[in-house]
Amino acid sequence: MAKIPTRTASTLLLVVLAIIISFEVHAQPTATASSLRTESIKVDLNQEFEFLELDNNFKLYEDVSASATIDDVAQVFEDEATTQFSVGDTNIGYSSSAWWVKLSFHNPQSAPKEIILRQAYPLIDNLQLWTRSYESHWSVKQYGDKFPFSHREIYHREFLFPLIIPARSTKEYFLRYESEGSLDIALSIHEPQHLLSFVGTQQLIYGLYYGGFMVLVLYNLFIFIAVRDKAFLYYLLYIFFYGLYMGAHNGLTFQYFWPNHPQIGNEGLLVTLSLSLVFALQFSTDILNIKEFSKLLNRIAKCLMIACVVAIPAVLTMPYAFMAPVMTVLTLTIMPLFFVMGVLRLASGYRPARYFMLAWTALIFSVIVYVLKVFGVLPRTFFTENGFQIGSIIEMVLLSLALGSRMTELKQQSHTDALTEIGNRRRFDDVFPVEFERAQRNKQPLALLMIDIDYFKKLNDTFGHDAGDQALRAVATTIKTLTRKPMLPCRFGGEEFAVILPRTDSAAAKIVAERIRQTIAEKPMAKREVTVSVGVASTDMGYFTSSRAIMNAADECLYLAKEMGRNRVCLFSEAPQKQAPIAASKTPLLENTTEGNEPNAAV
Ligand code: GH3
Ligand code: MG
Ligand code: MG
Repeated sequence: MAKIPTRTASTLLLVVLAIIISFEVHAQPTATASSLRTESIKVDLNQEFEFLELDNNFKLYEDVSASATIDDVAQVFEDEATTQFSVGDTNIGYSSSAWWVKLSFHNPQSAPKEIILRQAYPLIDNLQLWTRSYESHWSVKQYGDKFPFSHREIYHREFLFPLIIPARSTKEYFLRYESEGSLDIALSIHEPQHLLSFVGTQQLIYGLYYGGFMVLVLYNLFIFIAVRDKAFLYYLLYIFFYGLYMGAHNGLTFQYFWPNHPQIGNEGLLVTLSLSLVFALQFSTDILNIKEFSKLLNRIAKCLMIACVVAIPAVLTMPYAFMAPVMTVLTLTIMPLFFVMGVLRLASGYRPARYFMLAWTALIFSVIVYVLKVFGVLPRTFFTENGFQIGSIIEMVLLSLALGSRMTELKQQSHTDALTEIGNRRRFDDVFPVEFERAQRNKQPLALLMIDIDYFKKLNDTFGHDAGDQALRAVATTIKTLTRKPMLPCRFGGEEFAVILPRTDSAAAKIVAERIRQTIAEKPMAKREVTVSVGVASTDMGYFTSSRAIMNAADECLYLAKEMGRNRVCLFSEAPQKQAPIAASKTPLLENTTEGNEPNAAV
């Protein structure tokens, strides 16, 4: 059962990776930076260009009190010699200062040049673009996710400023950043046509990514409705909130869901993060069966879950600048816990933990790639930019495989007898009617053996219950080794076994039964002498209207075998009477096939 989804999912993964890689080849904007002459802060637009990252083309000024006016700041940048600037330090993190960037664009051509200034990181509270209009008047464009979307000139999740640099002139711009959350100055300039195709590709990739989430949520919702296993509910809530969190992170939920409610956008980010952590914990402890595995781990997980739940009202009431780092710390505490739980469960031989570990490894690998990119160790490519997204979608798919694996495990457990490790009564009840129907349909014979250990009570009483258990196990193992697929041995109850023999007529069934009886009688079963009695019935020996009728027939034969002295095989043989249903026949003919066996009195 687990085979097919595994194969389908790995094919799916390969397809997704292939699409991603081909996108990387085609979609990566080719910066023609080399053709541009760039100075410390002045960008020369004398060449045709498509796209340019402004990583080192500006200087930063930190206004620690966040109170400087634009005139102050313009003056500060004028007195360059006396002011300390940090150059190209773009990933600022949490800061209560205001940060100013000065950009100069020079257009030497005889026509005005249209460019679009792009600030890629969309979670900035307050972003202003100042420029001098006619006669030194300052004009400002007010962007930022603390302001309704309608403030933006270009309706996009990121901050896009359309600029026109007049012919043969230089224009200066000042950007003011202020944010309670972490701050990443990620500036680039684009030709409008280039940006159009770039954004188109990006939107398509986001569509794929969030489409994947939606499919997983719906798919798992349907499975949950069908099987009512809570793990599926936790899993789908986890990916639902994680998807919303990523959407908020990319500025998409703000743009599409609540463009006029910046408050929801800002607090929503942390609320969806806590909710996804709560359900990730709930899901992981559930799927790894942590409750029964380790009380300590379970308690730690419970405490962290409570912390995440308590964080929600805190997010809604306390300042973002305080709660954002708190949530980061909480996330960084929980992440290793998943790893620890996974490793310990894997070490204990719990199979669903394999997919679980693979899933988290994929996510953590992508986080490492992302962090290395942020620190400038890895170049900014499509893959490193979006590695986080790719990693998380791989994680989601692998986690749903972990769910599938657990389902298989549970199903196997519920169909296996714990003592003898062969099929249990439920397995028999599931399989036998199906086999009976199949036999009827295909007009093939089906045989059934009922096997009962002789004088087992006496063995128990004489040697103790443990010896009885060992003998039971030995008998089960013997029966199992003597019955190959598609034959199915099950523990029917107590010291009674049943063997289903598809496509087997009475003659063949009799041989199997006799071999079982003889082997058990001749070999010691866990050092004890044990014998069994066997009742055999097959559909080729009579007309059976139901699976129950053939079971009754086999049972009657078993009873007769006991009557006739035990340690023998009794075959149901109801010769010419093909029409009448067996249930109606009070005295079926029974055939004792085992000759010369003494009643088992050894025990
Ligand atoms: P007969 O030859 O007529 O079958 O006699 P018997 O003693 O085998 O039959 P009976 O049904 O009277 O006794 C079955 C005994 O099997 C009763 C119970 O103590 C024992 N038994 C049932 N299940 C288990 C088990 O899981 N472990 C052990 N050790 N004994 C079991
Ligand atoms: Mg018995
Ligand atoms: Mg019995």
